[in-house]
Amino acid sequence: MSKVWIKRGLLASRITRLAGRLCQAQVVILMYHSVLDQPESEFVTLGRIMHSTEVFKKQMELVCRDYAPVSMDDLFLFTQGQKELPSRAVAVTFDDGYVDNHEVAAPILNRLGVPATFYITVDCIETGRLPWPSRLRYAFLTTKRKSWIDQSSRTWVLASLSQREQAFLRACDLCAALAGHVQEQFLLAVETELEVDPTVRSEGAMMNWDHVRTLVAKGHIVGSHTMTHPNMAHVSDDQAEIEFLESKRRMERALGVPIVHFSYPCPALSPHWKESTVELSREVGYRTAVTTNGGSVRRDDDPLRLHRARPTKEVDGLHWNLECGFMGCTV
Ligand SMILES: [Zn+2]
Repeated sequence: MSKVWIKRGLLASRITRLAGRLCQAQVVILMYHSVLDQPESEFVTLGRIMHSTEVFKKQMELVCRDYAPVSMDDLFLFTQGQKELPSRAVAVTFDDGYVDNHEVAAPILNRLGVPATFYITVDCIETGRLPWPSRLRYAFLTTKRKSWIDQSSRTWVLASLSQREQAFLRACDLCAALAGHVQEQFLLAVETELEVDPTVRSEGAMMNWDHVRTLVAKGHIVGSHTMTHPNMAHVSDDQAEIEFLESKRRMERALGVPIVHFSYPCPALSPHWKESTVELSREVGYRTAVTTNGGSVRRDDDPLRLHRARPTKEVDGLHWNLECGFMGCTV
């Protein structure tokens, strides 16, 4: 019997649900990025971080039917021992701030009554440009140049898709530790050398402040995903503080609401958070911070280093990962 059928059999038997009930109270936080009618159309910029509208709609229907959607505010109170949550509680989150969050995902969430948290990269909202991993991906996958020379003078041939992806990953390793102006200079240098115009693909890809205000008005939470999307564990403490603090200030000024939730970007390098960033996030005034480490949340977890689960690209896959999450497995 295939693995898929074994999983389906276990889900149908509800054994996983019974096993989950025996475990300590937990919440699963789901991590999404982009929801598009035709995800394959954005492969050159977003890679594989998109969900199709159809699958996302069915996944949210599953969350409403078999689980209990909760907000990140509720989850924070749960970790403080100040609020009981329903069993099988699920929090839905989005990273980066793509315009489809407002145009495609939010209408589905609003219709079903699912509260979500949208973590935005402030620079991308203000400039309308895609986050840097997408800019690099677009540059390496579409350039007509035949090669690229990195900072250590190594030449990368750009012929096959896999060669282009290898060079892209090398550029990501270099860029992930940069933030602010230095990061922008690196990106412009790569785009100039590879002779690509990133504005072509960026146009209309990100939310603007009006879009974000609409999400807040509908009762969703908006959180920070930094100013310029660096790997926070690989920039200096001073730079990390700017990313935590400046993004919070700008968002509070633009939206008129306190910003107390944070999501760590996770580009290329590992780890993507560390003890000093957790302390910094506390000092700056965040209440929760989500990572991309897999797993569920228990009552006594530190709310400034929360785990999230991957929703997978299928409805059954999400169902399985949620059941595993409530049984305390890492997904
Ligand atoms: Zn991100």
